[in-house]
Amino acid sequence: MTTLLVTWKEPGQVGIEAAWNARKNGADLVTMIEKGLAACEMDPSLMAIGLGSLPNSDGDLELDAAIMDGRDLNCGAVCSVRGIAPVISVARMVMEKTPHVMLAGDQARRFAIENGVVPINLMTPECIAKYDEWKRGEDEKFFVHTMNESHDTVTMVGLETGPDGKPHLVAASATSGLAWKMPGRVGDSPIVGAGIYADDEIGAAGATGLGEELWKACASYRSVRNMEAGMTAQEACEETVRHMMRRQTNSTDLPCVVMALRKDGDIGAATTKGEFPFWICRDGDIEFREHLALT
Ligand code: ASP
Repeated sequence: MTTLLVTWKEPGQVGIEAAWNARKNGADLVTMIEKGLAACEMDPSLMAIGLGSLPNSDGDLELDAAIMDGRDLNCGAVCSVRGIAPVISVARMVMEKTPHVMLAGDQARRFAIENGVVPINLMTPECIAKYDEWKRGEDEKFFVHTMNESHDTVTMVGLETGPDGKPHLVAASATSGLAWKMPGRVGDSPIVGAGIYADDEIGAAGATGLGEELWKACASYRSVRNMEAGMTAQEACEETVRHMMRRQTNSTDLPCVVMALRKDGDIGAATTKGEFPFWICRDGDIEFREHLALT
């Protein structure tokens, strides 16, 4: 049995379908998740992540990604990478080809090129027009609008249970970060423990939303530890979100979301604000769900 969770409505659908197609072609769990996120990054019609997404305040796209394999807690990440996509594949290469966890900026780009990734211009006419609109200050609320309408991170968690009954978990994310961010700013998404976490002995979790707050909470790690302490996946996410709402005054400025998948297949999700739409795929059966903010 293979179960996948993917964040947000439009990009999530592209991601989950690409991941399941990869499985039909024989992909293992890490490859399924890489292919799912790569499809979202390379689709210029999705303003969410990768090619054609919303840039930083200089008008440059700086991408982040991370992947973690719950089998041995191995992980790889890249941050602030310009002119390269899909960065999830570069994060996977960091995990598999280097002894390191994260490469940053120009040196991550150089590593990608040395490993065969062809640089591309990530800006499309549509995202340049959005940037110009923002720069002209025509819509001062565009930052918030962006978070509510076209979310910036696709996060996936997956569980595979083999014939021996042993669970295997993987978590990954890819993002262009918050729209109009300060150049060089990195959020939770490529940070292991904040944006993603996976441990075959417990479960996996992933976050999306206001990265600074999710990072302060170590939201993914906290949710996995909550499951280790005996909580259901739903209880684990709710505890993390409630803790954020109680301790972090900015955590309700924008949605802060966490979703979790326990090693027995139990699923949960919670958000500090608004609605959180996500996709579930169980052996190819795809379901759409929405969770409302906790009160
Ligand atoms: N978490 C991402 C970041 O802060 C943004 C998002 O999920 O929309 O970079």
